[in-house]
Amino acid sequence: MNKTRHTSVLIIGSGPAGYSAGIYASRALLNPILVQGIEPGGQLTTTTEVENWPGDTEVQGPDLMERMESHARVIGCEIISDYIKKLTLTTSPFKAYGDSGTSYTADALILATGARAKWLGLPSEEKYKGFGVSACATCDGFFFRGEEIIVVGGGNTAVEEALFLTKFASQVTLVHRRNELRAEKILQDRLFRNEKVRILWSHTLEEVVGSENPLGVEGVKLRNLKRGDVVELDAKGVFIAIGHKPASELVIDSLDTHSGGYVVTKFNSTRTSIPGVFAAGDITDHVYRQAITSAGMGCMAALDAERFLAGK
Ligand code: FAD
Ligand code: NAP
Repeated sequence: MNKTRHTSVLIIGSGPAGYSAGIYASRALLNPILVQGIEPGGQLTTTTEVENWPGDTEVQGPDLMERMESHARVIGCEIISDYIKKLTLTTSPFKAYGDSGTSYTADALILATGARAKWLGLPSEEKYKGFGVSACATCDGFFFRGEEIIVVGGGNTAVEEALFLTKFASQVTLVHRRNELRAEKILQDRLFRNEKVRILWSHTLEEVVGSENPLGVEGVKLRNLKRGDVVELDAKGVFIAIGHKPASELVIDSLDTHSGGYVVTKFNSTRTSIPGVFAAGDITDHVYRQAITSAGMGCMAALDAERFLAGK
């Protein structure tokens, strides 16, 4: 049966921003409800070692997110497994429609829906998604033991994915469109020292080629951007790691956004263009995009929501 739940603060998203908001809003005795979405724990559940979370020299991403969830739950945040498919922000209270059939009404709303992997948009990439083309090395690397793998991108994600994939692959080729990486220097050092990795500078992926029956990747066509010619390489796996875009579809028509969908927040706060709606983490941040900055913004959003509710 469809039902409606009311809460003073509804938090959408279960990454570092959502759980931190849940912890702070619970400690303010606001009895928040947090809706997890289809990726409980968020992006860090798709990685292995996290080495820059203060207090842990090294922690597995999924473990860290389980601890955050447990912390939020123990302190009083109600955590619900549901996915918000629509939001109405023109009413008071705000209304969120869950995929489960439950609707949620809320006096204040914290958006912490984070970001999702970008794709190149090639027809062949789409065709072989799940059949050799992936955007998550920790999820799919295991399937390519002893095989040749291509990783596309030059940021932290691409370098970490390439390094992780060396555990399985016979060779990993990192394909980057420029002749320098954007990734942190410490990661670059590790990459350059790894004998299983080779880097193809100034190349782009033109096409994924493969078999039809069964569907599967056999190789790639890469364009050399300096010479203009196309080279072919054998590979069984192709990992696309070219960044992330904000998951702001729910609010793209109702809130001010910038730079391709990042929700605009007012100076030194998490307030958005609608009073009572707050945004935290990667959905609003196109600059830092880290677990710790997302967690910090989650804290800010809960404090901003508390002040908003107190002033109502
Ligand atoms: P996310 O972690 O993106 O979580 C978003 C949440 O929103 C998810 O739980 C999702 O289910 C939920 N959601 C989305 N839409 C809906 C909806 N409609 N209804 C309900 N819920 C919804 N950062 C570091 O600091 N250190 C690292 O080592 C590091 N490694 C990384 C490795 C990889 C492979 C990747 C991809 C990122 C890494 N990052 C790292 C970046 C870090 O993961 C992000 O900055 C951080 O997770 C952002 O947190 P967030 O809470 O804003 O959102
Ligand atoms: P990113 O930093 O935006 O890097 C994206 C990379 O993909 C860039 O090298 C970019 O090339 C390339 N690229 C983008 N579009 C492309 C296209 N159409 N074709 C070919 N190449 C393309 O994204 P990210 O690596 O996913 O990182 C996202 C955020 O998460 C960052 O803030 C990062 O610091 C954080 N993160 C942190 C860690 C960590 O702390 N260990 C790990 C992973 C991610 P150009 O360089 O030419 O622009």
